[in-house]
Amino acid sequence: MAREKKVEHYDVVIIGAGASGMTAAIYCGRARLKTLILEKALVGGLATYTNEIENYPGFPNSPKGEDITDLMKEQAKKLGAIFKGTEVQSVDFTGEEKKVETFRNTFIAKSVILATGGRPRTTNAKNEENYLFDKGISFCATCDAAANTDKTVVVIGSGDAAIEEGMFLTRFAKKVIVSVMHDEGKMDCNEIAKEAALKNPKMEFVWNTVVDSFEGEGHLDTVVLKDLKKNELVPVKCDNCFEFIGYLPNTEIFKGIIDMTKNGYILTNEKMETNIDGVFACGDVREKWLKQVATAVGDGAIAGFAAEKFIAETEIFEDTVMKKDKNGVIYVYNAIEQAQRELLPMIEELNAKHGDEFHFTKIDVYKSDGIARKLGKTVYPYVAIVKNGKVAELIDTIEADKIMEAVK
Ligand SMILES: Cc1cc2nc3c(=O)[nH]c(=O)nc-3n(C[C@H](O)[C@H](O)[C@H](O)COP(=O)(O)OP(=O)(O)OC[C@H]3O[C@@H](n4cnc5c(N)ncnc54)[C@H](O)[C@@H]3O)c2cc1C
Repeated sequence: MAREKKVEHYDVVIIGAGASGMTAAIYCGRARLKTLILEKALVGGLATYTNEIENYPGFPNSPKGEDITDLMKEQAKKLGAIFKGTEVQSVDFTGEEKKVETFRNTFIAKSVILATGGRPRTTNAKNEENYLFDKGISFCATCDAAANTDKTVVVIGSGDAAIEEGMFLTRFAKKVIVSVMHDEGKMDCNEIAKEAALKNPKMEFVWNTVVDSFEGEGHLDTVVLKDLKKNELVPVKCDNCFEFIGYLPNTEIFKGIIDMTKNGYILTNEKMETNIDGVFACGDVREKWLKQVATAVGDGAIAGFAAEKFIAETEIFEDTVMKKDKNGVIYVYNAIEQAQRELLPMIEELNAKHGDEFHFTKIDVYKSDGIARKLGKTVYPYVAIVKNGKVAELIDTIEADKIMEAVK
């Protein structure tokens, strides 16, 4: 017999406890929202795999990634966020209440923040899993270049990331050997990067190759390449290897529900809003230019703040705007527009005269346009006439007689 799942209610559920999710939790916790953060693996996310983070502001002594993310966890907990170690298996965002399903639980939330990050694409060559991260295979030149000063490194790939990151590595390493799967002179990167790389004296290229295996006692010391044309193995001695063959977002469970790029990155606007009202995405999981801890934290702050605003606006909308006891008049205006401000006394006068019979509400979209969007119109000013808790009419020509006639 199928087990009944335990149902729990929260204001906000955050999926993923990396830097972005935990920052969102800090903002939601501080806004006194009942906040749950779900993590399937390591609290701290991808940053915990980094031995040294040199570029996160405020930490000049290059701490380990987990030293920073442990502090984020402490801060989020202190502000009331609840952490649970469990994997989200599916989500249902069809109703007003959003559902997040794990093996044992159904979590119901007013708002959900997707912060599931991503994972580097790997080659799937032999022994690869034995050398991932601190054992010789890295995925981030920005992070690990300095540790390769005067060393020999292998770079896998020839796309923009591989060649540009490879060039960056030449500032530190004594030699950067690039494995390219194409014929000599052919690369997947842009022409400018290609020309610069071919001229760089510290860069060497091994054409027509893919990785066959990774070898070494404890730590990687040889990348065995396979020459696809000659069908020969080419062992390349090195200190470390960097794989730049793409990045995979952790978005499988959101497919068909949330709008994404063809590569599976979630599309958001600058408020971290997705295509679904009340569902936000932040950090590496979203389509963006620079995927780093500093930018994940920035996204998380916006997502947490946006979730708080969304919940507050929904409550105002339900409790104030759409009251069913009397018909209502909602004046939606932008306070920075003088002409729109000038209509306020007229609305106030109507309220003074007819306030016993009808509700009169003013919504300033300069502060937030969420309620205006719920009313269904984002060109201002206008008056929404509400009857039986529903928008009955939107009036653009704002005149006292017209409003009173419509609201009766
Ligand atoms: C090796 C390496 C070194 C790096 N070094 C640096 C550096 O020096 N400086 C820097 O600024 N950046 C660095 N980065 C990049 C940085 O780590 C990321 O940009 C940052 O961690 C992104 O944070 P995030 O919260 O968006 O995602 P993540 O850190 O990826 O966190 C997402 C979390 O969501 C969880 N999750 C996913 N799916 C589910 C699910 N279904 N249910 C529950 N939980 C789920 C994951 O387990 C993960 O913990 C490095 C990256 C790598 C790979």
